[in-house]
Amino acid sequence: MNTPSPVAVTTVTDLQSHIPQGLGTDLHQLVSDLYPFCRSITGNGVRATLERLSTCIALDTHEVPSGTPVLDWTVPREWNVHAAWVADFHGNRLVDFAASNLHVLGYSTPINATLTFAELRPHLYSLPETPTAVPYRTSYWAERWGFCISHEMLQQLEARGPDAQYHVVIDSSLEDGHLTYGESFLPGDTDREILVHAHTCHPSLANDNLSGIAVAVSLRQLLAQVQHRQYSYRFVFLPGTIGPITWLARNQAAVARIDAGIVLSNVGDRTSLSFKRSQRETTMVDRAAAHVLGTWHEPGATIAFSPFGYDERQYCSPGFDLAVGCLSRGIHGTFPEYHTSLDDCSFVDPAALADTVAAVVAILGVMENDATYLNTSPYAEPQLGRRGLYRSLSGTNVDPNRELALLWVLNQSDGRRSLLDIATRASLPFKVIRDAADLLLEVDLLQLVTPNPPTPPTL
Ligand code: ZN
Repeated sequence: MNTPSPVAVTTVTDLQSHIPQGLGTDLHQLVSDLYPFCRSITGNGVRATLERLSTCIALDTHEVPSGTPVLDWTVPREWNVHAAWVADFHGNRLVDFAASNLHVLGYSTPINATLTFAELRPHLYSLPETPTAVPYRTSYWAERWGFCISHEMLQQLEARGPDAQYHVVIDSSLEDGHLTYGESFLPGDTDREILVHAHTCHPSLANDNLSGIAVAVSLRQLLAQVQHRQYSYRFVFLPGTIGPITWLARNQAAVARIDAGIVLSNVGDRTSLSFKRSQRETTMVDRAAAHVLGTWHEPGATIAFSPFGYDERQYCSPGFDLAVGCLSRGIHGTFPEYHTSLDDCSFVDPAALADTVAAVVAILGVMENDATYLNTSPYAEPQLGRRGLYRSLSGTNVDPNRELALLWVLNQSDGRRSLLDIATRASLPFKVIRDAADLLLEVDLLQLVTPNPPTPPTL
């Protein structure tokens, strides 16, 4: 994916008008490039993934040694797999890691043995309800080995009888090494931070993990073009569960600066967007996401918090209780392609990827550019036509939302209600309200009361 050519964009809200044409195609290409790598919670597939990302964005790669205590956990041993197969008596490889890395149970210990089908059977995983798909399975915390195969393949093996012999090889290593993660920091005008998280631990699965990675990379590139970012942005590319736990353990100082965050998961399929609220439910990011999805061209939904799902559950644990929600299209566990070989590059739609980027930009735009104002001429409506803000001829073809937004901002700017409150009440996109406020500021009809981020109280 090429770095977009620089365009002068003043604010994150303005960035909404500068989402490049063809972005979805570029993001889909990145997904396709990353798809073959054998990622896991540790190992060379993660390193290769981060190396590819470092050609797109400035990225710091961190290596945390196995055995490092991280909160209540310990960084595990590093797993790598070089080759794996199940071959029949004639040496024909019936199941081969070289064809799909999903075939090996994640974190499988090594084996090289000749087994009967009866002996092999407890190590085979399939999906009877989706017989053509290979499931994605892992065993990070209990040592075992196994193969994931289509149910059709399992039935073929069963048909050869329990005594048929197979040469079973998993050439893997599970030894002291490192947990690898990536981080990209983009400073803003203040040190208050917004966290963007994508998980990096799934092997050849496109929507679940690669879509989030691609969208995060794109956001990092686009936000870098914005001249005035109120917030600093921290992008983290972490393996699921142990990744955020490791990151949180090592970054207590940064945690204190995080005002909001978004976990990106399953953001490339063709389902409409949804936002799972943070544990606190009504924080800035919760309200911004609810507004943007509610007024989006394809309206999305918000989902109540639950302590299950993706890595928002670590950020929302009571000791941290960060305002971090999770943006998704397909909801994990509810679509048939989830955690199977059917979650391939064809399951991810370029237009959906680009649309997700645009939606996150809109959510960030709300958080960046919300503020509270006071109408300086509150006694009846000020004469907008005299100030060049109202069509002089009724019936002129001017965007009706623009004038309606001017009236809403004037009516509601009482020094307490923010532009987001106004946009929500008016059911108008935040950008329309923000643009109206900018016009009113130019003619001194508004006075700033509370900027965003709010000025912290002096101690
Ligand atoms: Zn997953």
